Amino acid sequence: MMQSVPKALVPGRSCGSCSLCCVLPEIEVFDKPANEPCRHCASGGGCTAYADRPATCRDFYCLWRTDESLPDAWDPSQSGMMLYAQGAQLTLLVSPDVGEPWREDRYRAELSRRAEMLTSRGGYLVIYRGDEVSVFKG
Ligand code: SF4
Ligand code: SF4
Repeated sequence: MMQSVPKALVPGRSCGSCSLCCVLPEIEVFDKPANEPCRHCASGGGCTAYADRPATCRDFYCLWRTDESLPDAWDPSQSGMMLYAQGAQLTLLVSPDVGEPWREDRYRAELSRRAEMLTSRGGYLVIYRGDEVSVFKG
């Protein structure tokens, strides 16, 4: 949750019932470990501290919300995965209960394309799933 507020969000895409970014990442300001819901997650979805949520939350959007070149299949609420940029690093967080969907052709091709671009700029793509961490090799 380190991305700055984008100038524009992709029209037609919304978070809806998704709350992956409130569950999958570690969030230091709340002492929230990875892969556990934030203590402010509402039981029916949403945030019980929405009006007072910190900048860490206010400023964050995953790439699906900010990059229209990321195909619709990457909707985190459908794929169980969220991508976000952090400097020269691209991070893919994967719900531990969805298996390894990034290995499917439709996702792998997109990751390969992005990893190739990152490598040419000295960056890399890291995948986190539960306790597993790996650098995407294509
Ligand atoms: S992971 Fe993306 S789509 Fe899901 S709630 Fe966060 S910003 Fe919205
Ligand atoms: S404070 Fe709200 S928006 Fe921020 S991580 Fe917790 S539930 Fe999500």
